[in-house]
Amino acid sequence: MNALILLIEDNEKNRYLTTYLLEDHGYQVVHAADGPRGIVTAQAILPDLILLDIQLPMMDGHAVTRALREIETLRETPIIAVTSYAMAGDREKAIAAGCNGYIEKPINPETFAHEISRFHPPVRPPGGTP
Ligand code: MN
Repeated sequence: MNALILLIEDNEKNRYLTTYLLEDHGYQVVHAADGPRGIVTAQAILPDLILLDIQLPMMDGHAVTRALREIETLRETPIIAVTSYAMAGDREKAIAAGCNGYIEKPINPETFAHEISRFHPPVRPPGGTP
């Protein structure tokens, strides 16, 4: 079974490119365009991994991460922050909030899926949580 990624990203172009790259490497992708919807969707689908833009409207990625970590069923889910190179402090804040790692924007299409696979492989291990 393909691993399921929840992508929380407000920019449509980024959603399109990211989804294309992940699906091309065998992941299944579900979208949310803002934090509140991402939190609701995460609880509903229990993804194998959450890919989280930090710069989001209403609620930034740090706040989204803290909220996700309050939810029992999502406490162990890998959360990867997507941070802008220009916003240097974001990376440390993302880890402090509970993210497992980060990827810099703009993403490198050549290496992106491989970086994600370090946190969860494209195929869900049989009978196991990540
Ligand atoms: Mn954004």
